[in-house]
Amino acid sequence: MQSLTFSKVIIRGVDIPLKRPIVSHLGVFETWPYLCLDIFTKEGIVGKSYISPYLKDYLPAIASCIKVLCKNYDGKKIEPYNFFENSLKSLSLQGFKGLGLYALAAIDIALWDAFSKAANKPFAELFGGSINTPIKSYNSSGLWLIERNKIAHEAELLKKEGNFDALKLRIGRENFKHDIQAYKEVKRGAGSDIIIMSDFNQCFTTKEAIKRCQQLDDLGFYWFEEPIQFNLLEDMKKICNLINTPITIGENFHGPKDAFDALLNNACDMIMPDLMRIGGVSGWLKMSSVAESFNIEVSTHLYPEVSSHLICLTPTAEWLEWVDWANPILKEPYNIMNGKIIIPSRPGFGIEWNENVLSKFKLNI
Ligand SMILES: [Mg+2]
Repeated sequence: MQSLTFSKVIIRGVDIPLKRPIVSHLGVFETWPYLCLDIFTKEGIVGKSYISPYLKDYLPAIASCIKVLCKNYDGKKIEPYNFFENSLKSLSLQGFKGLGLYALAAIDIALWDAFSKAANKPFAELFGGSINTPIKSYNSSGLWLIERNKIAHEAELLKKEGNFDALKLRIGRENFKHDIQAYKEVKRGAGSDIIIMSDFNQCFTTKEAIKRCQQLDDLGFYWFEEPIQFNLLEDMKKICNLINTPITIGENFHGPKDAFDALLNNACDMIMPDLMRIGGVSGWLKMSSVAESFNIEVSTHLYPEVSSHLICLTPTAEWLEWVDWANPILKEPYNIMNGKIIIPSRPGFGIEWNENVLSKFKLNI
């Protein structure tokens, strides 16, 4: 396998319009920002990654962190494991969470991409997995807190986008009856067999969450996601003990240690870490061993392209969250067939940029 030498990093910021604007308890978003990385090597191979850190005003700060971290790599042989470990140690004075971790995740994904391209293998195959692993995927690209009379039609469209068996509905409406109506509208639009995940986006106090979860407990939701603030582990445990529907958290784990702490405290029934916040590919692989040791199901959060490779290497993997939000920036987006993501047989993560879109929606960072 060809050895690679770090040459330079190019970071670009974009803000892409969303086909279906996000209307959630965490805010309303018409566009979705990305940092796109190209890590160049002296041998000509380019590692690529993107992260979407939610708030576009923070992109310059994260880009600065990436530049600082990359200073240590100049002219060095690319060894993704060592780079991750050394960079994490270098963040100790800055803290192991937050923007520094996001920056490290972006670099880590791009380095693993370059590394697998040097081996001319898709990432999952580099680690001995198979890109033909069937990965059940749910469509999370819509069903925000939209008006009730629009839910059934949107559910029907979302199902048809990939013949999905499962969709995610955002709930925590004015009262529980509105949540029940929304659930029934999804079934009306996408069929009675459709599996429905739900997400409260941390909208309740603990008392309110217990009441609402009890009111909806027998309805048939596949899971309740983040009913309260994600880091209130004692209260999450209380909710888990009172509610039959599985409770899931994880998109706000900052690094594998957060996953370990949540599982040690019995704060959830399943987890769904986010590729960026868990620390990129290296952070995910560490987390997947933690989850296996607790025998707990792991689903993904956003980033379907890289996450699908990681699902193939996660012993307790369950669902892949499909969102098409990054499709415009990709030359050849991933596809869904019969509710399962198709991993393309391309080296690395198979990501190439749609340069026209990157130019059109460029942000000055
Ligand atoms: Mg969520």
